[in-house]
Amino acid sequence: MFRIPVCSPSTTKREKELVNQALEENCISSTSKYVRVFEKEFARKIGTSHAIAVNSGTSALFVALKALGIKEGDEVIVPTFTMIATPNAVVQCGAKPVFVDSRKDNCNINEELIEEAITPKTKAIIPVHLYGQPCEMDKIMEIAKDYGLYVVEDCAEAHGAKYKGETVGSIGDAGCFSFYANKIITTGEGGAITTSNQVLAKEMEQLRQFYFPKAGHYWHKKVGWNLRMGSLQAAYGLGQLERWDELVGNRIANAEYYTASLKNLVETPMEVGVQWMYVIRTPDRDKLMDYLEMEGVETRSGFTPCNKQPPYKDNKEYPIADELARTTMCLPSGSSLTLGEKDIVINLIRKFYE
Ligand SMILES: *Cc1c(COP(=O)(O)O)cnc(C)c1O
Repeated sequence: MFRIPVCSPSTTKREKELVNQALEENCISSTSKYVRVFEKEFARKIGTSHAIAVNSGTSALFVALKALGIKEGDEVIVPTFTMIATPNAVVQCGAKPVFVDSRKDNCNINEELIEEAITPKTKAIIPVHLYGQPCEMDKIMEIAKDYGLYVVEDCAEAHGAKYKGETVGSIGDAGCFSFYANKIITTGEGGAITTSNQVLAKEMEQLRQFYFPKAGHYWHKKVGWNLRMGSLQAAYGLGQLERWDELVGNRIANAEYYTASLKNLVETPMEVGVQWMYVIRTPDRDKLMDYLEMEGVETRSGFTPCNKQPPYKDNKEYPIADELARTTMCLPSGSSLTLGEKDIVINLIRKFYE
């Protein structure tokens, strides 16, 4: 057990009240007002006309890609430095992920390298707003327009992040969110897709549940899946949405506090957005992680680039992703992290560098 976990959820009386209310009303399936209200409220937060709740962030990516018609023989551009769910969703559609190296400053996909990865088979780009830092969306949307590609934003780590005044998840064709327990807004397990394209929204709604038609029964025009969110998850999530400013604000406050105290010791690249996880960069990464672990502080290394993982091995070089994988680590970053806990982490890092 760690004295300070890297990320733990924040459950208050309000989430418990709402879950209990759903139970009292015997609302447990996915066809309840809790899911509908959750979708409506979430769409409002992101600034889209629709949100479709699903059972995970991975399902959100899969449903969005599937609804956009991504299929076998297609290629989808993704950063190699990301969580494995991003390319996995592409594979789930039968298509091939094509990796692009990262920017050193904020760990996101290097938009300058996207064009050279485009082939006649390319159908979409998935920019991942890693750790809550928004990608260079102007450039990415411009490339997508020039080449006729879809843009599916992976916003799993970026609830509430803004790019030039627009909330991420409202910029591309679709935005995909995760509500896994360690994410900024959580339902335990869960996800959602945001879009303002009504045709796309309808297709996604049907794909998530057996391609049931709105009217009529047991007539299925296409293959659909069961990727629904349940009422208890949605009820919990409604409590989280009421606490949006607090939960997003806590992540930003963590980052500001860490940056002010650590910027002279390590590189502190997470300066904008919402800082899902607070990342530092240092050549002493492994030693620092071991030291903090011994002191009871849980940390995480940066991602292992997808092109280094057995299912995705390729022969290309991604030097920045390799460097990020060697030098980045996440400090404790949960929404319920206390000031005292942050001070413990900071003082230990100071001691390490003494
Ligand atoms: C967490 C995460 C996902 C997957 O979300 P799940 O809800 O765990 O399926 C996808 N992409 C990124 C970048 C993530 O961090």
